[in-house]
Amino acid sequence: MQYRKLGKTGLKVSALGFGSMRLPMNNGQVDVESALNVLNKAFDMGVNLVDTAVGYCNQQSEITVGKSLRGRREGITLSTKNPYKGTSGKEWRALLDQSLKRLEIKWIDIYNFHGLTLEQYTNWMGVTDSPIEEALKAKKEGLVRYLGLSCHDTPQNMIKLIDTDLFSSIILQYNILDRVNEDAIAHANSKGLGVIIMGPVGGGRLAAPSEVIRQMIPGKIKSTAELALRFVLSNTHVSSALSGMSTMNMVTDNVRVASLLEPFSSDEMKAMREALEEKRRLSELFCTGCGYCMPCPNGVDIPGNFELMNYYRVYGLVDYSKDEYRKLGDRMKDDVKVPAWAAACKECNECEPKCPRGIKIKEQLKEMHKTLAM
Ligand code: SF4
Ligand code: SF4
Repeated sequence: MQYRKLGKTGLKVSALGFGSMRLPMNNGQVDVESALNVLNKAFDMGVNLVDTAVGYCNQQSEITVGKSLRGRREGITLSTKNPYKGTSGKEWRALLDQSLKRLEIKWIDIYNFHGLTLEQYTNWMGVTDSPIEEALKAKKEGLVRYLGLSCHDTPQNMIKLIDTDLFSSIILQYNILDRVNEDAIAHANSKGLGVIIMGPVGGGRLAAPSEVIRQMIPGKIKSTAELALRFVLSNTHVSSALSGMSTMNMVTDNVRVASLLEPFSSDEMKAMREALEEKRRLSELFCTGCGYCMPCPNGVDIPGNFELMNYYRVYGLVDYSKDEYRKLGDRMKDDVKVPAWAAACKECNECEPKCPRGIKIKEQLKEMHKTLAM
């Protein structure tokens, strides 16, 4: 396993972190025995960073992760998150106390503001007894070692949040399909924050095989998932990449990749970046996902369908696109099935005049259904 500095915290974390949002489940409940086996396997193989959150796995992730820490608390860096969105420090603190209780631990290593936005942070400024004041108090009391944030805000707003100098680390999205946060990652690293990546395999999209993606570095990698993880870890500003692992095989595969000391060479990274840029341009030839054509009176998720078609024809993610397409066909709302797939199009033509790219939406949707429903 490779270990990397978590910014200026002094902690050294494994390049592969355990994301506990996909623990094995059974009828809506965490299968505790299987989950503990997977977590312990990862720890035994050198993973020393585990990330959880209040809401993961039907509120059972923190409890399960807490159990996995028994007997090895000192050796593991634990990250969890406070989802509070209001302005009361007291209410924020109550959630911290609940997490400590669920995890059955005395301190949290990295305590994140979950999904913090610049707007929310700005609302806390000038408020007496704000969540920020309470967080600093909790740090003084030793309940929290480092404050962090997880963030889905725009890259510009992320950079402003990084510049507040409040945080020791940041958790953000980055993968070969979504590189919009690259500058924020470099900035966070330059300011001494640890950079933890969520979604290195695109929330599962890149776990599915794609010959197109695998061929970006011919002969060197075994799977799309390997390329995706190695791409993220080849970024030297990254401290660790979180993978949501639910099986022993996922753990062994990911540990193998995260243990490869040799990153992609600068020539390989250049070739891959060029290929990705080309793919991005190609995708945008079809549909930019702007959503101007929405809503469809018949429930079709027009940009969602086009996105899947792009994954299919541009990135070669055949299995993934077909699986997700079927899910669009099974979409439910208030216990009623409201299919959002291309086949639900009634050709009313409300959408086409609104598309700035002049895409022949009706025709394309028909084509899509033929391809993806097969
Ligand atoms: S043409 Fe089809 S996709 Fe477009 S708005 Fe009408 S039903 Fe929806
Ligand atoms: S308006 Fe056109 S480009 Fe925008 S999401 Fe709809 S189909 Fe795609």
